[in-house]
Amino acid sequence: MNILILGSGGRESAFAWKLAQSPKCDKLFIAPGNAGTSQYGTNVNIGVNDFEAIKQCVLSNNINLVLVGPEEPLVRGVHDFFLADDQLKGVPVIGPQKEGAQLEGSKDFSKQFMARHNIPAAASQTFTADTLQEGLAYLPTIGLPIVLKADGLAAGKGVLICTSLEEAQQELKAMLTEAKFGAASAKVVVEQFLSGIELSVFVLTDGGSYKILPSAKDYKRIGEGDTGLNTGGMGSVSPVPFADETFIKKVEDRIIIPTVNGLKQEGIPYKGFIFIGLMNCGGDPYMIEYNCRMGDPETESVLPRIEADLVDLLLGVANGTLREVDFAVSDKVAATVVCVAGGYPGEYLKNRPITGIENVRGSHVFQAGTTQSGEDVLATGGRVLMVTALRDNMFDALQQATADASRIYYDGCYFRKDIGFDLI
Ligand code: ATP
Repeated sequence: MNILILGSGGRESAFAWKLAQSPKCDKLFIAPGNAGTSQYGTNVNIGVNDFEAIKQCVLSNNINLVLVGPEEPLVRGVHDFFLADDQLKGVPVIGPQKEGAQLEGSKDFSKQFMARHNIPAAASQTFTADTLQEGLAYLPTIGLPIVLKADGLAAGKGVLICTSLEEAQQELKAMLTEAKFGAASAKVVVEQFLSGIELSVFVLTDGGSYKILPSAKDYKRIGEGDTGLNTGGMGSVSPVPFADETFIKKVEDRIIIPTVNGLKQEGIPYKGFIFIGLMNCGGDPYMIEYNCRMGDPETESVLPRIEADLVDLLLGVANGTLREVDFAVSDKVAATVVCVAGGYPGEYLKNRPITGIENVRGSHVFQAGTTQSGEDVLATGGRVLMVTALRDNMFDALQQATADASRIYYDGCYFRKDIGFDLI
């Protein structure tokens, strides 16, 4: 069969790498892809939100299945677009329709969903400009720090953790009355702060049954020791040592089952990945957020540990037969180190030629912000390459990925050398 992946990051590189291994995948296309994805399939130069161009690509290449990497096309309704089009409606899309994508697209929607299904989460209330006074009155009732969340998508920047009441008051006003995050902050979720250790659990569902994919932990800050500005993610490891069987069973009973059943009960069709962002508070899982797609760079650590054929899993999702698909996870540990551009996450260096990828022997390099220019591969994005090692234990995986990241060179290349070492 012919498969189209939408997206251009390390996550989509990892999907392409895994799908290309399947004997059932005849032709693979990645739109738009990056310099590295052309090793696994054919890059098609169209944007992930250009639904008409995606349609032409699907029809002209006889695509049988579409896997959506990032959230934006899902929240904008790419799956609904396929269902509404006579020529496309037989082509399954992996990723929820607009309504299910609201689990990520609206934090207010997701908090209300959690409340309706008794899913453990921090106490919260949602406010608009019209209810600003009620919002200001709510702030002192939930203790410090106070978490303010823009309701809509804000490129990972819409969450503020305020350490004083005054700061929370100012920020709430700025979000609601000065459109601090544009339309995304027309509604704001004010939430209690949860103390604990963060991790992510991933679920693949056909809307009825589900498979729990390996857990992962990502490292968001730019600096070693988790310091400095937030980024799209500087590294990840899978599995997470403290997410043992007992903890994952709690996640399944208290979060996964109520989520999948809740979607079904409410008549919200959902075929795709659910990213469950959690806080482990003294051994009990609390929801932080849902995402309607896999995480990046978690995917790069999760997929190498999945021993099943990814095409079988995706077909199971498409056909509603996921329950019957064999699924096994390797006991090995995966570690991913992200190489970023100099200056990232601020203004960063662009168009620097990359050398040394061929010197990496013990890890796999998933490309992200790269572009082919003649013979050269150029670093063009903020997060440039993800280096993933799979080994028998955490220490070896971390050491290998970190050593291999240092074999790659481009002007300004930076990566954290402490990814995962807090877990050993
Ligand atoms: P991202 O795009 O990075 O996934 P987001 O913008 O969708 O993030 P959240 O994941 O809800 O927003 O929040 C971002 C980060 O803020 C979380 O990863 C977590 O570290 C922190 N955070 C969010 N809610 C809470 C909370 N209630 N208590 C403590 N920390 C929180």
